[in-house]
Amino acid sequence: AAKAQPHGSIKVFEPALLYARRLQSVLVTELREAIRQDQLVLHYQPIIELTTGRIEGVEALVRWNHPERGLLYPDQFIQLAEETGMIVDLGHWVLRHAVRQLRNWQLASQVDDSFNVRVNISSTELQNLELIEHVRDILRETGVDAANLIIELTESMAVNGGDLDQYSMTGLRRLGIQLEIDDFGTGYSSISYLRTLPVNVVKIDRSLISDLGGDEKDTNFVEAVLHLIHACGLKALAEGIETAEQAEILTRMGCTSGQGYYFGRPSPPDAIAAMVGNWKPRGR
Ligand code: C2E
Ligand code: MG
Ligand code: MG
Ligand code: MG
Repeated sequence: AAKAQPHGSIKVFEPALLYARRLQSVLVTELREAIRQDQLVLHYQPIIELTTGRIEGVEALVRWNHPERGLLYPDQFIQLAEETGMIVDLGHWVLRHAVRQLRNWQLASQVDDSFNVRVNISSTELQNLELIEHVRDILRETGVDAANLIIELTESMAVNGGDLDQYSMTGLRRLGIQLEIDDFGTGYSSISYLRTLPVNVVKIDRSLISDLGGDEKDTNFVEAVLHLIHACGLKALAEGIETAEQAEILTRMGCTSGQGYYFGRPSPPDAIAAMVGNWKPRGR
């Protein structure tokens, strides 16, 4: 189909665009089924305590094991899940499976009592009134201590500290869960959040970390961000650490924890158990 444009030019719909649209609507139907049929899988990426070099826990990252299209990554379906409201069911699935996995590692004595799991939730999920109850049920059902669960507030839209955000965040904190601002330093995150949101940890975005070690200005900037986080009485975690140099600089600057390909990639549960078992502290 071609459409006349104001200046007499002709806009032809590109087959690629049509294809993308059709793929989207197919994916919506399929994602609904995927959640029901357990086609989703969680990979876990190690989080390192920088002063000791030990693995303090993991972040759960969702993947979709699609029967025809293979392993799909969050950037291929999270936004879609957001737009269709399916993120709520998806989020419940992720929470339940991540906490159960932690319980399995604990029961197999593959991790110690302090080992924690981080789960990403978007603002849509945060504003779901059933969230607190859902989390409480999962903890009760698995017997996992709330202190071992950290919720990362991943912003597809701003977590802006409105009434609903505050309600949920306060409720989660009351359960004993720690909250973390994800991707700090980009997009919607603002420095005033550090003072107003009831969070424990701030995760500095990869885009700031990747510049470390080059220009002195970039390094100074990250150091200033760390000061700011510490000044607010919060812990700092750096994501996207890919080199020994980045790990060293962050450790020297007093960053509490680190995460990135340098330490380990997101991996299935068995690989994580093996990684924890064979871990040689690094990055000090
Ligand atoms: P995020 O929460 O900031 O997670 C970190 C992302 O960076 C992950 O991508 C991870 O694989 C990647 N990463 C980790 N270390 C490195 C590194 O050293 N270098 C580089 N280049 N990348 C690194 P992934 O798994 O594709 O997830 C992308 C985003 O999707 C996440 O960003 C998060 O916002 C969202 N997401 C993932 N799982 C969930 C979920 O269960 N629920 C929701 N709502 N969002 C999720
Ligand atoms: Mg995250
Ligand atoms: Mg992040
Ligand atoms: Mg990110």
